[in-house]
Amino acid sequence: MPEPRPSLLEYSPAELTELLGSLGHKAFRAAQLAEWIWKHRVTDFEAMSNLPPALRAELAARYTLRPLEPVDLRQSQGGSTTRKFLSRLQDGEHVESVIIPAAVGQGGAHSSRLTLCVSSQVGCAFGCRFCASGLLGLTRNLSASEILAQILAAEEIAGERVDNLVFMGMGEPLANIDNLLRALTLIMEPKALGIGARHITISTSGNVPGLRRLAAFGKPLRLAVSLHGASDEVRSRVMPVNRKWPLGELLPALREWNRTGKHMITLEYILIEGVNAELSQARELARIARDLRAKVNLIPYNRVEGLPWVRPSEAACRAFCRALVAERIPVTLRYEKGHDIDAACGQLRLRKTREPQG
Ligand code: SAH
Ligand code: SF4
Repeated sequence: MPEPRPSLLEYSPAELTELLGSLGHKAFRAAQLAEWIWKHRVTDFEAMSNLPPALRAELAARYTLRPLEPVDLRQSQGGSTTRKFLSRLQDGEHVESVIIPAAVGQGGAHSSRLTLCVSSQVGCAFGCRFCASGLLGLTRNLSASEILAQILAAEEIAGERVDNLVFMGMGEPLANIDNLLRALTLIMEPKALGIGARHITISTSGNVPGLRRLAAFGKPLRLAVSLHGASDEVRSRVMPVNRKWPLGELLPALREWNRTGKHMITLEYILIEGVNAELSQARELARIARDLRAKVNLIPYNRVEGLPWVRPSEAACRAFCRALVAERIPVTLRYEKGHDIDAACGQLRLRKTREPQG
């Protein structure tokens, strides 16, 4: 395997100026380089036609522009155009990302053309019992450039710009907070990707110290919290993270977020038969949602090969949803798009890891 090279996607336009300065080049060269990287989004140093050939060769010998390479692309069947791709990182690890086009006719304040679900880690240390990403534990954090490169790869696949981002792929973004904040800075930077904070959703299973740092970052990001249980007893059964940061710590941190954040929190709640889909949980969930002025997103469980959990019947899911509506909680019941391409993140990599490697 070739030696991994640092990626220039790691550098802000200002840092590129410093970098080229340290290599003995003038500042205007850095501005040219930044344009090639972020405006024209070239994948090859050779395409940087206004840079001297010696500088192009020097950069190509030391750096890469794409620290990952898509190796498997799947399109879901039955009319949905959700696509999922697996990328190989320079060290041979794999991550997955999901491209979700906006439904036709979708409008409203945060309408978008193309949403991308990105991964933040290879695997995950949190080990939620129902999740494919957690099954194999954590391999490593993604660097900021590996997070950014998923966006560039998706744009290359889709042939259009990504304008909405959700951190709901593999990994717990707040457990990789340093690289997450670095990536977010470049994602929001108008001279880099230029995606506004309001178009970015961070999903967390409730990493309280990470939440506090994200709040201190001070940007109007959207926050989704994977609750999946409305009492400590139910939540701890499927989410070991709840033993470390139980509801008694998580909920105050979310109230604090509400004081600094500008958006309604979304509580994600996967419905799993025999675990958390009792109507008594719906009433507890309503109490939490009301306290946090949050909306609730119900997701019938997406089966993972090798795990025992199943989704409740459609009637049971609807009854759970109605119980929240009766409590006047804003709620959506969403059957996941791309069910047939293992769209719940982590599943494609799991398959790849379990297959004999050729
Ligand atoms: N670690 C973060 C973000 C990645 S998981 C978090 O947990 O929030 C993104 C979402 O997918 C979470 O709400 C997670 O609970 C959910 N998820 C994981 N496995 C799933 C499955 N099999 N079916 C449906 N949703 C799943
Ligand atoms: Fe990690 Fe999120 Fe999966 Fe839990 S649900 S194991 S936190 S990726």
